[in-house]
Amino acid sequence: MTLPAFDLLRPTTLDEALRLLSEMPDALPIAGGTNLIPDLRKGSHAPGSLIDVSGLPELCCIRRKEGHLLIGGGVTIAELLDDPMVAQTTPILTEMASSFAHTLVRNRATIGGNLVAAAPCCDSAPALLVLDAEIDLAGPEGTRRLPLAEFLVGAFTTRRESNELLTCVRVPVPSDRSYTGFVKMGLRKISCMAKIDVAVRVEAHSDGRCEFARIAIGAVAPIAYRAEAAEAHLAGNVLDAVAIAEAARLAGASAHPRSGSEYKRQVIEALARRLLTDVAGRIEGGS
Ligand SMILES: Cc1cc2nc3c(=O)[nH]c(=O)nc-3n(C[C@H](O)[C@H](O)[C@H](O)COP(=O)(O)OP(=O)(O)OC[C@H]3O[C@@H](n4cnc5c(N)ncnc54)[C@H](O)[C@@H]3O)c2cc1C
Repeated sequence: MTLPAFDLLRPTTLDEALRLLSEMPDALPIAGGTNLIPDLRKGSHAPGSLIDVSGLPELCCIRRKEGHLLIGGGVTIAELLDDPMVAQTTPILTEMASSFAHTLVRNRATIGGNLVAAAPCCDSAPALLVLDAEIDLAGPEGTRRLPLAEFLVGAFTTRRESNELLTCVRVPVPSDRSYTGFVKMGLRKISCMAKIDVAVRVEAHSDGRCEFARIAIGAVAPIAYRAEAAEAHLAGNVLDAVAIAEAARLAGASAHPRSGSEYKRQVIEALARRLLTDVAGRIEGGS
């Protein structure tokens, strides 16, 4: 289908963008356009105007402040991938970004667009869920903050109001006893949408026991979610083969894939076991 006609507005500040969004109820924000432009071609939306938020300075930086990594909503996946501070503090985000699409898409696609689009196979959500990320939404009345798990409501649905912009993803910087891993399974090794994403984080006690764990799964439900029974099984325990096998089984059992995709439960179990075994090895090796 051809692209429908629209006006493209290019505000230069966040305030101006928010004012335009409030004044024009039929307008939509556009960042990289990697979701929105294909949607417009399909006829899923017909906005009179698009408000380009990709150049807003307030949305474009990654910085560290008061124990948090602050990732602007307009930061691209390529910028996330290349950022040394992200690699050092939250390597799981670097891993996630390295498995995201391919260079051309990564150069345009933003973290804010990925979360607002809220596709079931959105790669950033599971990685951010295990990091306990929060979302800042700016609107005419100011900025409100939500845990990511609350922000994501269901497939293609979030708690964002139409006159709000996702300005920032806030990630508490994990301690130096935090161990993470991310794996994406798709139909190809690169440049594909996820069939399954699994993300894990284990916060270890100094004696090597698990203080608490986070396990998040994507692409097997309307939206990414945490496998809380599997997490609870690891808390306070040594990550030995028995504990890992049971946690992985619980992670697999948490999934409710669509009919015909029941294999995903076994794959989640195998991937979770693999990630947790790797984490246990690193905890033991002190690396
Ligand atoms: C070839 C291809 C491969 C892809 N591969 C992957 C992949 O591997 N993994 C994956 O997760 N996704 C993938 N995608 C999907 C897409 O690239 C991502 O979802 C991307 O992150 C969307 O970001 P964007 O900046 O392009 O958003 P846009 O398309 O500009 O916007 C998406 C939605 O978010 C809204 N929006 C954008 N920015 C903001 C903001 N700051 N505040 C409020 N609303 C906002 C828009 O109005 C729109 O509703 C792929 C897409 C393509 C075309």
